[in-house]
Amino acid sequence: MKKTAMIMVVLLLQGGASGLAADKVHFEDSDFSGDGWGEFIEVPDTGGWVVRRRNLGGLVQGWVQEVTLDTDGGLFMSAGKGSFVSLFRSQGQIYALRTRDGERSLINQIAVDGRIGLRLGFDGAFFIYDYSAGNDWIRLAKSDIIGVVSYTGGISSPNRASGMSDYRIVELGSLKGVPFGYTDTPKIPGTPWVVHDPFRPQPRQINPGSVTPVNNPGIPPSDAIVLFDGTNLDAWEDGKGNEPKWKLGDGYFECQKKSGTIRTKEKFGSVQLHIEWASPAEVKGSSQGRGNSGVFLAGLYEVQVQDNYDNLTYPDGQAGSLYGYRPPRVNACRPPGEWQAYDIIFEMPEFDGGQVVRKAKITVLHNGVVVQHGEEIPGILGHKKTRPYREHGPGHIQLQDHGNPVRYRNIWVRELQPTQ
Ligand code: MG
Repeated sequence: MKKTAMIMVVLLLQGGASGLAADKVHFEDSDFSGDGWGEFIEVPDTGGWVVRRRNLGGLVQGWVQEVTLDTDGGLFMSAGKGSFVSLFRSQGQIYALRTRDGERSLINQIAVDGRIGLRLGFDGAFFIYDYSAGNDWIRLAKSDIIGVVSYTGGISSPNRASGMSDYRIVELGSLKGVPFGYTDTPKIPGTPWVVHDPFRPQPRQINPGSVTPVNNPGIPPSDAIVLFDGTNLDAWEDGKGNEPKWKLGDGYFECQKKSGTIRTKEKFGSVQLHIEWASPAEVKGSSQGRGNSGVFLAGLYEVQVQDNYDNLTYPDGQAGSLYGYRPPRVNACRPPGEWQAYDIIFEMPEFDGGQVVRKAKITVLHNGVVVQHGEEIPGILGHKKTRPYREHGPGHIQLQDHGNPVRYRNIWVRELQPTQ
């Protein structure tokens, strides 16, 4: 932490800090008596600058630090290990920086003059940088950082304006975090986390590029069983074996509210599955309520389908997760409405006398990016629970109706036969 503070000292020039009105003030050092700083730790050896920090444990969302500056100065929040964000003014420019593992990158900068406000927010997966040059707050930048949920923050403020507070921790309506996750669920075997643990580190959001193209579906391999070519739902049925009620569109089909899960008529064991999906272009809901569906292998193991583009949820329940067990390695979501692809390689578990002797294994590429690699599935996955294996054979590939109009297209499967 000391290293972080020292870096900040270099970044933060002469600072005069005071408070601005905020949505909800949780802590304010109004009279600068020093009492309010009880929870704050003076950072030593900062070359004469005042730098204080406060350790905030647990899941923090929508909490920010805020300062008003007449001259130069700024804020930082650190996630430790040389990773932190900083927002400061220096010589007429506001700089938004992100430093990850000691490597610093400029996210954005803007020229300003006069009195300004700066604030940093944290929503569990992203740091958010705002500034104000009048009454309105303006989003300057947003950066992914690292999936930790506690941070240390501080300011440099050697020249506090008289009668004004130096430091505020506020909760902003615009950043209000949606509660998600569970802490009263069973522990996931082989991990320190409980099922849907909100404190589990969030996968980094990345841009998946165009390893899998967006615009036109590709052509399946010649030995694939085509489950949907854009024209009909002949390979599909509802959960009772009847005609599926999902809507056929132009080259895709779409989940209809309360239409129920659909499944392939045929049952499959170990497969390579290609499936493309799109969450609704119109963003509605948050966390698990946004663009939720799912692909069930052998009818039992869900690879989550969800709009997690700037949408935070419990890590073991986001797009590309093995639902209730393992988060994706990264969050490779494309924006809402864009076509996305899963390429899934699933190997069936093997049983002997009712006991599992080889667990199911799965690899998932999301938009061409590896998000699961040869993962052994510890048991039957599900919502808020862990269940041991029960003997089963091949099963229907199922698509979940979670009440959101998620679309699918270009679905094909290749059965994995043992090699000779
Ligand atoms: Mg789902």
